[in-house]
This record gives sequence, C-alpha cells and structure tokens, in this order.
Amino acid sequence: MTRVLVVEDDAQLARALVINLQARKYTVDAAPDGATALRLVAAEQPDLILLDLGLPDMDGIEVIKALRGWSRAPVLVLSARSGSEDKIRALDVGADDYMTKPFSMDELLARLRAATRRTIESPPPTQTAMVVGTDEFTVDLLAKRVRRGDRDIRLTPTEWHLLEILVTHPGVLVSQRRLLTEVWGPSYRGKTNYLRVYMAQLRRKLEADPAHPRHLVTEPGMGYRFEA
Ligand code: CA
Repeated sequence: MTRVLVVEDDAQLARALVINLQARKYTVDAAPDGATALRLVAAEQPDLILLDLGLPDMDGIEVIKALRGWSRAPVLVLSARSGSEDKIRALDVGADDYMTKPFSMDELLARLRAATRRTIESPPPTQTAMVVGTDEFTVDLLAKRVRRGDRDIRLTPTEWHLLEILVTHPGVLVSQRRLLTEVWGPSYRGKTNYLRVYMAQLRRKLEADPAHPRHLVTEPGMGYRFEA
C-alpha cells in the first residue's frame, strides 16, 4: 500500500486530493501547514509527499529543505506559482517534480505513479528489468547498450551518462542543475549550454524527429524528462 501525504492549506483542494487518492487505493494523510507536514512525515513515513508551496506557517521550499536532511520520500510540488524560478528553487532543494495549479487529476496521478515507481525501483532492479524501451529505441542499462531498430547506437560516455539518468527516472522532470552536477560535477551546474549541446546530440541519435522530440523532452528553463 502506498502512503501519500497531502500538504495543502486550501481545504477544498486538500479534500478533493484525499478523496481521489483514496479512491485509487492510496493511504492518505493530510496536513494543512508545514509544521504538521514535518510531524506527519516523521510519524507516518509516507512513500510520497504532495506539497503546496504557499502554506500559512512556512514556505513549501523550507519544508523540503527541512525534510531532506532525513527523509528520501519523493516530493511532488503543487503550486499556483508558475514562474520557473520557483520551480528551479524547489527542484534544487530536493523536490522530485513540480506541477502548476490548476492541474488535471489524471496528470497528477500519472506523475505520482512515476515518482513512486522510481523509489520502489531504486536500488535498480535485477537483470531482467534493466532494459528500458520506447517505440524508437531500447536502452540496456546493464550491458550499456542502446539499440534503435536493428542497429546499435554508439554513444559517448557523457551521452550515455545523461541518457542513463533520464531513462532511470521515467516520466520525472530531472533538473538541469542535477544533470550537470551528476554528469560533469558541481562546478558545472550553471553550464546549461553543455546540456543543450549533448541533448541535441542524443536526440539526433535517438529521436525520429530530433526537432520535435517525443522521448527526450525539454522542460524549458528547468530540465529534461524521459517519456517512454
Ligand atoms: Ca496554499
């Protein structure tokens, strides 16, 4: 049973979320403010946290910062703020995904499934589950092999590293900063031009129409998302 904590001060929205999630067999706790949220994360150890940024007692960003010292539960931010600066801040302090209000319940559920799949699957599953496939290409994470149609695609180590991070987080937005830090190192985290160059190379190798990618999707100003 997946346990979800809904942190939302808008009582009507909180109620709608709780009802919808319970209908999908999630176990749901709700917190109307940041302090309650932190208490419930410690007490209930949810598998996933849905977090509003605008809370009455503290900013959602502060909640994420406070959590990240001791909880690894994925945080999906729900916010009325659509500015990319807030999204980047939230992702940088450790949020896993970000949705701007208003959102559809179907999209929320899809993102939630993606985020929980990721935690449940890490550490990586056994050999048989190490191939990630799309209708264009397949990635064998164990053999470090990419195939498109009936041929092997040669990737540079940097291209491989980027692709590996993205395909092991299917459906999840991975921030520019995180990709730069993991692939190139912390001192490169502002070098978004590196990402643009390498993502363009990957798309030329893997996407049917690199100008309109279907699998290696850009979230402008924020990061990249792998869609199977
Ligand atoms: Ca709010």
